[in-house]
Amino acid sequence: MTLDDRNPDQPPSPAPDPGAASEAPARRGAPAAEPRAGGVSVFPFSAIVGQDEMKQALLIAAVDPSVGGVLVFGDRGTGKSTAIRALAALLPPMRAVAGCPYACDPASSAGACPHCSGQSAPRRSHRVPVPVVDLPLGATEDRVVGALDLERALTAGVKAFEPGLLARANRGFLYIDEVNLLEDHLVDLLLDVAASGVNTVEREGLSLRHPARFVLVGSGNPEEGELRPQLLDRFGLAVEVTTPTEIATRIAVVRGRDAFERDPAGFVAAHAKAERHLQRRILAARERLARVAVPDATLEAAARLCLALGTDGLRGELTLMRTARALAALDGGEIAEIDHLRRIAPAALRHRLRRNPLDEAGSTARVARAVAEVLA
Ligand SMILES: [Zn+2]
Repeated sequence: MTLDDRNPDQPPSPAPDPGAASEAPARRGAPAAEPRAGGVSVFPFSAIVGQDEMKQALLIAAVDPSVGGVLVFGDRGTGKSTAIRALAALLPPMRAVAGCPYACDPASSAGACPHCSGQSAPRRSHRVPVPVVDLPLGATEDRVVGALDLERALTAGVKAFEPGLLARANRGFLYIDEVNLLEDHLVDLLLDVAASGVNTVEREGLSLRHPARFVLVGSGNPEEGELRPQLLDRFGLAVEVTTPTEIATRIAVVRGRDAFERDPAGFVAAHAKAERHLQRRILAARERLARVAVPDATLEAAARLCLALGTDGLRGELTLMRTARALAALDGGEIAEIDHLRRIAPAALRHRLRRNPLDEAGSTARVARAVAEVLA
């Protein structure tokens, strides 16, 4: 984890518009010594101490965004927001069509947006960082999905669309702190868009669609408001982060944070090799993913696990399969094994359990027990 007592999990204060999607510095208000020209220094992912389950879930989402979003439950100041920015910064910059508000991939014509579909190839492109967009709790629906200006559309006869946060998040990450406090209809909408990869805006007969493929990362403290079970279930993975209790870990966290604050550039340089290594691992895993086989034995074990836990529907199994496959790819393997299931089961299943009044154990303990019984 990264300890950041300087407001780590809050989006920057209520600026009307945080500007470029990638900008959102995790540490606005940091000392002037921090290099800003050419971008803000981001705490390296490989320097994050502990929080292995969260890191594993984020890496899996980076390899296969189709696993669905990641829900991070836990204490404040455990570096959730830092970890997401660190992961995005670790990924290589992406090629994007110049001038496209959705940062379309020039190499792909699939899902082209209203801006690009009218243009003929070749299109001018440039390199942009993988976006991390903060969705503030008070955001209006127009700000999130984008606003269709009906008046301009009617008087000028054009489709006047002001892209929203979903447009900026395309091909990157959408981060919602305290997702459990977000209005249900917005969470519903976000999960729909995240699942389909398309944002559709409709106003009185006008409609507009644009690509919005992103990994949804929500964080929250379950003590401050619960998510409806049917929303919980739609997040691919759910992980728990806690403030570490071991002295040695706490020392390592504080030392890392202090070293970064005092000399961000030096700290980033010292971790550059580890970051390159991790980046290569992610890219190799993405490339390998399509070749990873999921044997029947693995699917059967996944099904028995879900049956034992009484999860609703088949979403649990689907997530287990996809995450086991992504984890195998990250490991450099070509087969999703039962051991991969074992490692991912708590994150894939803990938020899908029905309440059992006869079972006082927490959901993580219940998953662990089922894993021990079923995957023995
Ligand atoms: Zn485009």
